Amino acid sequence: MRKEFLPFSKPDVSENAIQDVCDSIRSGWLAMGPKTVDFENKFATYTGAKYAISVNSATAGLHLAAMATVQIGDEVITTPMTFASTVNAIIYAGAKPVLVDIDPHTFNIDVNKIEAKITPRTRAIIPVHFAGRPCDMDKIEAIAKKHNLAIIEDSAHALGASYHGKRVGFGRGEKRIAVFSFHPTKNITTGEGGMVTTSDEKIAEQISVQRQNGMSKGAWNRFAAKGNANYDIAIPGLKYQMMDIQAAIGRDQMNYLEAFNARRTEIVNAYNNAFADLAAMTLPPPIEEGNIHAWHIYTPLLNLKELDFTRNEFMAKMKERNIGTAYHYQALHLFSAYKEITGLNKGDLPVAEDVSERIVSLPLFPKMTDNDVQDVIEAVLAICR
Ligand SMILES: *Cc1c(COP(=O)(O)O)cnc(C)c1O
Repeated sequence: MRKEFLPFSKPDVSENAIQDVCDSIRSGWLAMGPKTVDFENKFATYTGAKYAISVNSATAGLHLAAMATVQIGDEVITTPMTFASTVNAIIYAGAKPVLVDIDPHTFNIDVNKIEAKITPRTRAIIPVHFAGRPCDMDKIEAIAKKHNLAIIEDSAHALGASYHGKRVGFGRGEKRIAVFSFHPTKNITTGEGGMVTTSDEKIAEQISVQRQNGMSKGAWNRFAAKGNANYDIAIPGLKYQMMDIQAAIGRDQMNYLEAFNARRTEIVNAYNNAFADLAAMTLPPPIEEGNIHAWHIYTPLLNLKELDFTRNEFMAKMKERNIGTAYHYQALHLFSAYKEITGLNKGDLPVAEDVSERIVSLPLFPKMTDNDVQDVIEAVLAICR
């Protein structure tokens, strides 16, 4: 058995980034400033979006994106197979989340079930690229065009993914926004942090002002040597900026992103080969032709009929072997708060509910050694065979 505990995820931050964080602290400019601007520019270039606006979390980015596209009393369509912040952002923008069941293979929103949930109050769709696999954006785009809806891509899992030759977050056009997360488990990290990308100038302007309490100019533009201390507030905002301390890590992480994702893919291939004949597991399907998967998480389904234990018991057995796992996610309508807000009950989204009970996330992060990968494979085979 392993001597050391293997977590299901762990970030990889370079010595250069650590030095650059120290530099920010020693220089006296800790909050948003030149490093944040540099990180934003790098991010815009990488994704291909006209604007990249940094924020202090994806939750903040989703909130600002919702505030920019919906009004109080509107409805927003999204998936139950996501983190709470996707629906929290909708709720705190004053709208109602409307959950649509997921595809049983990709675990992305089932595009064939979206139109049935559209009402005259629907204003936006928030697809989540689950695990880093792009949603069927052609179909979602067609529905959005037909009903004049905004699209906010929750791309927290999908940095580096691409759909039909274009990077997720490239900036699809008017009322099109993508939001990324830099939480330590994500494809790159800044500790906490997030990025909003769009090519809609009006929305970019609103979000960049609303992340700094509505001030027309950030501190960098007011207090730096060439700054001007005056500012206006044309629209009230919140305090959602990124700090240079975070951006120092983020701009360095961008240099490693492609290598990180290549290593993630390598580990996924090793898992897929090792578990190919395992009746107890249904593996993630191959990535659709022409797309790139970002492999934020590796999420097989346990075929409980083949096993005499539950998913939670499987996780406990892995832990006994010193291997950490997680699960993403419990379908949101099964949480008490959202049951009430969405008006949904157990039985209403059967695919998401079934997946909720069987899904598990195995360790997946670039720093994993081949030995770590082998330990996970051996543990899974020993438990499931
Ligand atoms: C991580 C995550 C978020 C929230 O990101 P934070 O940066 O932690 O706020 C939102 N949506 C999804 C799908 C996520 O996985």
